[in-house]
Amino acid sequence: MGLVLVPTPLGNLRDVTLRALDVLRDCDLVVAEDTRVARRLLAALGLPKKTLWSYREQNAAAVTAGILERARGGTVALVSDAGTPGISDPGRDLVLAARAAGVAVEALPGPSAFVSAAVLSGFELHGFSFEGFVPRAKGERERALRAALERATASVWYETPSRIVQTLEVLASLAPERPVFVARELTKLYEQQLAGTPAGVLAQLDRPVRGELVIVVSGAAPAPLQPSQVETDREIDHALAAGASVPQIARDLARRGFGARAELYRRASQRRATREL
Ligand code: SAM
Repeated sequence: MGLVLVPTPLGNLRDVTLRALDVLRDCDLVVAEDTRVARRLLAALGLPKKTLWSYREQNAAAVTAGILERARGGTVALVSDAGTPGISDPGRDLVLAARAAGVAVEALPGPSAFVSAAVLSGFELHGFSFEGFVPRAKGERERALRAALERATASVWYETPSRIVQTLEVLASLAPERPVFVARELTKLYEQQLAGTPAGVLAQLDRPVRGELVIVVSGAAPAPLQPSQVETDREIDHALAAGASVPQIARDLARRGFGARAELYRRASQRRATREL
């Protein structure tokens, strides 16, 4: 009973879960963004025909009450064309409406393209950002990509074949060395995983670009930890006390990551002069 969000395969039918099959077989109504896609999916999975209702942004206001009514007395399965409902797909408003109406809501775990792409990227994911689709408008897209490049951890986007080239070109101009990862046609026969710099990935991408795509941009590497001035001075004083010369100290501390040799030379000379006073 209630509303059940049912993830569906991204391309490989065998990724449907046993629970998804149970719900789709036993439910009273299937609600889908595109009922033709849902009908084909049920048939491909060998499931019985179901009553199918369309639920899209455009008709959501008109059909929500009816869907909740059906979910009160039975089980309504919400599916999207592929992956998890509510992830760059309709679902969120229905979840909120169901909860507000006291109708039970359940979300089955299952496939979602951004999760597979994120883990395949190999980038640091702690605190990563899922951004939905890369904005279409040039200015907005550049702002979004700049913001991603500032983040410490990875950013994940859905992208279309018609715009992926421009997106990679913008990344190549803003951050030529930043590692990126593009997953194309995940779980399908021609799945591709492309990793490298933005220009490197562009070069690997077959043209015209076809299929479904996710792009992951690695976070900015953390700035190397700089020893504080106090630590540097302590090292200099210690070396001076041990009888080391200023050039020796500058060379040694620069090698150990305490900064630029010229600056260390200047600082060590200053410290020695102070000691001699
Ligand atoms: N709800 C879906 C999910 O959980 O992944 C996403 C729906 S969104 C409307 C569709 C976008 O997901 C596509 O344009 C593409 O960026 C991405 N996508 C879906 N299937 C994919 C696949 N097999 N490989 C790569 N990306 C995919």
